[in-house]
Amino acid sequence: MNADEKIWRYLKSAGLNDFGVAGLMGNLFAESGLNPKSLQNTFERSLGYTDDTYTQAVDKGTYKNFIYDKAGYGLAQWTYWSRKRDLYNFARKRGTSIGDLTMQMEYLLGELRAYGLATKLTNAKSVREASDLILLQFEKPRDQSDAVQRKRASYGQQYYDKYSAEAVAAKNAAEQKVAEQKAAASGENSALADVVILSPNHSGKRTHIIDTVSIHCMAGNLSVERCGQLFQNKSMRASSNYGIDSDGRIGLYVEEANRSWCTSSSSNDNRAITIEVANDGGAETGWHVSDKAYRSLISLLVDICQRNHIPKLLWQGDKSLIGQTNKQNMTVHRWFANKACPGAYLYSLHPKIAADVNARLEAKEDEEMSYEQSYEQWKEYMEMYRKELQGGLPAAWSKDARDWAVGIGMFNGVGKDEDGNTMYAWRDTTTREQIASLFYRFARWLGKA
Ligand SMILES: [Zn+2]
Repeated sequence: MNADEKIWRYLKSAGLNDFGVAGLMGNLFAESGLNPKSLQNTFERSLGYTDDTYTQAVDKGTYKNFIYDKAGYGLAQWTYWSRKRDLYNFARKRGTSIGDLTMQMEYLLGELRAYGLATKLTNAKSVREASDLILLQFEKPRDQSDAVQRKRASYGQQYYDKYSAEAVAAKNAAEQKVAEQKAAASGENSALADVVILSPNHSGKRTHIIDTVSIHCMAGNLSVERCGQLFQNKSMRASSNYGIDSDGRIGLYVEEANRSWCTSSSSNDNRAITIEVANDGGAETGWHVSDKAYRSLISLLVDICQRNHIPKLLWQGDKSLIGQTNKQNMTVHRWFANKACPGAYLYSLHPKIAADVNARLEAKEDEEMSYEQSYEQWKEYMEMYRKELQGGLPAAWSKDARDWAVGIGMFNGVGKDEDGNTMYAWRDTTTREQIASLFYRFARWLGKA
């Protein structure tokens, strides 16, 4: 069991509820990193001690100023002299090191009870409530701003998500649901989807094959889960086949086989895969999207093209080409409704999107052939090429030379053709052994060999 878990269990056994434990632990983490031997960093240099050597020196009694040195120490970074004195005496009474985790937890609980905070942590309604209680009424650091409150509550939330039985059960149930929905969705969808939240908002089976893609912007920074939840709402009458969030995660909402309600056009949505992309910038940025979202968009489009036999993406930025998929197979929402979708940023990236997807599609095609296969194919082509050369007619300018060479026996030919004529393969390539033979025959004709 690690220290975090030990602290969680100890505080739970003391009666605090999950929110109370998490809120307290978030604050202790901010103070000491949950290290009971933690010496306030600014004092490490001035006192010439590390966490460990300070702890040892206090334990051995060689350092005598523990109570009055004003250095924050331990889980809660106890600083004020009377609190350090009480902690010191408590450790002496327990016979433990000043840096002992369990001793400090016991001491801390005693303090919380004395401050009237233990009961409040037993009845806390949220991590934030518990966290603020500790921050504002117990730790009271100099900076108690909203930013610090949120930061400390976010630390607490992490412990809550990790150790609260309820949170863990909810997380398991959510994962289970995703797995079930993935299994229920047919295999005709992208395996790249991180979550599957099937929307009731669709028209059932498409009436057209998939030959188009339509990239949309959410005009907001929704997670794929949040977007999926919105598409659960029937009165919204909206959906998309896929969604991508700013972390680059992909959601499946309407199976590819079905027509989504996305582009304000029945004919477009019957043939297009529709993709909503989250915006990490607002209207003033032209609805910017994150690099992670862009990378996932490219990967998803490559996958869609491959499975649906779309050889490449074509983009002209020409509304009049709608439906002429041999010229343009990407469409945008703004062509079908009075909307900015997909926003200036994604719209201007359409040529790059097509180029990036097509480069990946071509690379994939090459990858599909192994080295041995391409080598075998190259040899086959080489054979074909040489046959072509051998059958090729020689040029007129070389006639005298050819006649002379055949006449003196330098060239014997490579066989006979169907009509019984000798073939000389005049345009074929020459090997080194053939060159040696040519010189040899020439030398013999000269009487030199
Ligand atoms: Zn749109």
